[in-house]
Amino acid sequence: MRLAAGVNPGAPRTDTATMERLVPLANTCPPALRRAARWLAVALVAGVLGHLVLSSGGDGTPEIEGWLYTAVIAGSGALCALRATAIARDRAVWLLMALGIGCSSVGNVLYYGVLIDLTPAPFPSIADAAWVLFFPPTYVALGLFVSRHLRHLPRSTWLDGAIGALALASLVSGVVLPSVVASTSGAQFAAVATTLVYPCADLLLLVMVVVTIGLGGWRPGGAMGLLALGLAVTAGADTIYCMRTALGSYVDGTPLDSVWPAGMVLIGLAAWQPIRPPRGRLEGAAALAVPYAFTLVSVGLLVVDHFAQLSVVSLVLAAAGIGLCGYRTLRTFTELRDLGDSRRLALTDDLTGLGNRRDLLRRLAQIEDGAPEGDSSLLLLDLDRFKELNDTLGHAAGDEVLERIAVRLRRALPPDASLCRLGGDEFAAVLSRDHGDRDQAAAVARRLRLAVQQPLRIRDLDLRVDTSIGIATFPHDGRSASELLQRADVAMYDAKRSGTGVAQYDPQVDGHSRERLALFGDLRTAIPAGQLILHYQPLLDLRTHEVHDVEALVRWNHPERGLLQPGTFIPLVERSDLMRALTLSVIAQACRQVADWRSRGLDLCVAVNIAVPNLLDMHFPQAVGRLLEDSAVPASALRLEITENVAMADPTRAAAVLRGLTDLGVALSLYDFGTGHSSLAHMKKLPVSTLKIDRTFVMGMSADPLDAAIVRSTIDLAHNLGLTVVAEGVEDDTALATLDEMRCDVVQGYHVSRPVAP
Ligand code: C2E
Ligand code: MG
Repeated sequence: MRLAAGVNPGAPRTDTATMERLVPLANTCPPALRRAARWLAVALVAGVLGHLVLSSGGDGTPEIEGWLYTAVIAGSGALCALRATAIARDRAVWLLMALGIGCSSVGNVLYYGVLIDLTPAPFPSIADAAWVLFFPPTYVALGLFVSRHLRHLPRSTWLDGAIGALALASLVSGVVLPSVVASTSGAQFAAVATTLVYPCADLLLLVMVVVTIGLGGWRPGGAMGLLALGLAVTAGADTIYCMRTALGSYVDGTPLDSVWPAGMVLIGLAAWQPIRPPRGRLEGAAALAVPYAFTLVSVGLLVVDHFAQLSVVSLVLAAAGIGLCGYRTLRTFTELRDLGDSRRLALTDDLTGLGNRRDLLRRLAQIEDGAPEGDSSLLLLDLDRFKELNDTLGHAAGDEVLERIAVRLRRALPPDASLCRLGGDEFAAVLSRDHGDRDQAAAVARRLRLAVQQPLRIRDLDLRVDTSIGIATFPHDGRSASELLQRADVAMYDAKRSGTGVAQYDPQVDGHSRERLALFGDLRTAIPAGQLILHYQPLLDLRTHEVHDVEALVRWNHPERGLLQPGTFIPLVERSDLMRALTLSVIAQACRQVADWRSRGLDLCVAVNIAVPNLLDMHFPQAVGRLLEDSAVPASALRLEITENVAMADPTRAAAVLRGLTDLGVALSLYDFGTGHSSLAHMKKLPVSTLKIDRTFVMGMSADPLDAAIVRSTIDLAHNLGLTVVAEGVEDDTALATLDEMRCDVVQGYHVSRPVAP
């Protein structure tokens, strides 16, 4: 049987695994060097363990111990050098470390090779010079390492390092140094200086290590952690050694001697660890634990000072550490507050100060996770025709509308409900379990709608904004946040399409909304394919009892779905860029039809509906002029119907287009009158000749005296302005008679005729 390359079933797997743990970085370097490093690491760890066994035995093997000691330390230097050779990254750091350990090794060789046999042993000796040379390259290496890998640290982390360093400096200067100094009294200057050099150099090293660990958020990983640990172990051993020698209690050949090689091996292993970014900082109370622990050391020293006087330097250092800790605490609070602020900002909508989409998702997830006692509802609100408002009045006004609507919605909601803005003109409210069932949600939705509908005065315009609200209730309509959102969205479009304003999620409608999406895809090809056709509804002139005008109403002759009414596809066109193509196609067909009728002696005028995008299109009048020319129909035979909400159009652009149209000789009529955003004052400036009263008022006349009053006064007003009045939605004789009595000029409605083919 052939085995795949590299698979050796007999290999001691655990050994390789142990080795990989020792030298994990190895897979980025040449395999030969990697193998060498692994074996060296294993040998060094074994060497340290061997030294520990020998030194704890105490049975007098100083020679072997000494050379094992020397070999392990030299090997650690070699491990660093190997790393510097194998991998380019941080090469300088590990070369310097190798240099430092190399110097120390030279000291060991000199000591065990030459000096150990001399009596009395010279002090200071040439070995001391080599040992001291360990420090300078090590400082530089550590500094380089920190500066490369710990940039962009928050100030509190630096403070932690400083607090730790001060506590340590105070400890060493208060306890360690005095005993060393005491032991050197009366000695020669060189001896004193050398004795002092070790603890001072170690102190500096320890401080650097503490700062390094502090900078790593007290949780340094990988290389940084092992390096710091190795250096701390070495410096710690030095310090203990110094103190013991000073007190005369140091004995050669104890397990303390194994600590140095162990420290050096840790440094050697650090060289081969991956460089990980600091493992995330500690937060909250945990963040303060470490600086507080160091501060406790400083406080302890002040207490000790009460019984045995410490040096002034030590006291000053301890006091500075405590002071810094106070400042650190203050900073932590500020950081926590900032953190809270940024979390809040991440969940807030800039414009309205309400929650944003992220906040909504979070709240829905809470509903999802909570115990299902009672229902919760999601209300999705979309302002009707807000895009037009934004396009015509400008974004600043649009923003103002949104801000003010947000305030109204907040006021109209129960206090425990939450309100978010999802972006654009979409808002969402989440009703908690106390108000969340279907009926309560519908009542709240109606209240919200009323609040939105109140007149809104912006830049001298009295706007009337409306909204459509979709409701999805947990858990009936959906159990997850995305399900609830999707279903509330379906309900919202249902509310918009049906004109009811508020709708609960209905699975049947959901099916329709999927169809709607498919329809949207077909729309683009429908216009060039000639699938849009026109039906015409006659308008009866009550003054002459004749029909002079018809309104062209578009239908989509869909190849699969049959004849579609505009309600199913005009909203889709409104949300696409197809309105120009649709309107021009309708005008072209209508003009051709009028030409045909006229050629047969039927002297009719046609009204065509145009939409806001047409009024913002500066080339629109020109295009209409061309269509009139092509069909040889006089401009007076075409009337364009604009909805009332273009009446609030930003005068400059829309007015220029309207002027362009009237210059052609085309008449304009205003329809949907009474339902839109405009004020009378503004409407008065429009160059319209006809006013169409919306069918909701006309159809409501018989039941609602208020509607009758509105119709009557609108007719009077229009007449006073010199306009012709058309009443839409005349469905029966009574309405016709009432309008006749009110001196309405023209009527349109099913009672006269439904829209029909030409
Ligand atoms: P609109 O301009 O208000 O058109 C009148 C609508 O009222 C037509 O609906 C018509 O069928 C309906 N209607 C007429 N008399 C009565 C009545 O007595 N009772 C009732 N209940 N309804 C009546 P349709 O054809 O479904 O059109 C709906 C809307 O679609 C139109 O409202 C218009 O806003 C839009 N639309 C239709 N064709 C076009 C078009 O070519 N371009 C644009 N931009 N919009 C169009
Ligand atoms: Mg119309």
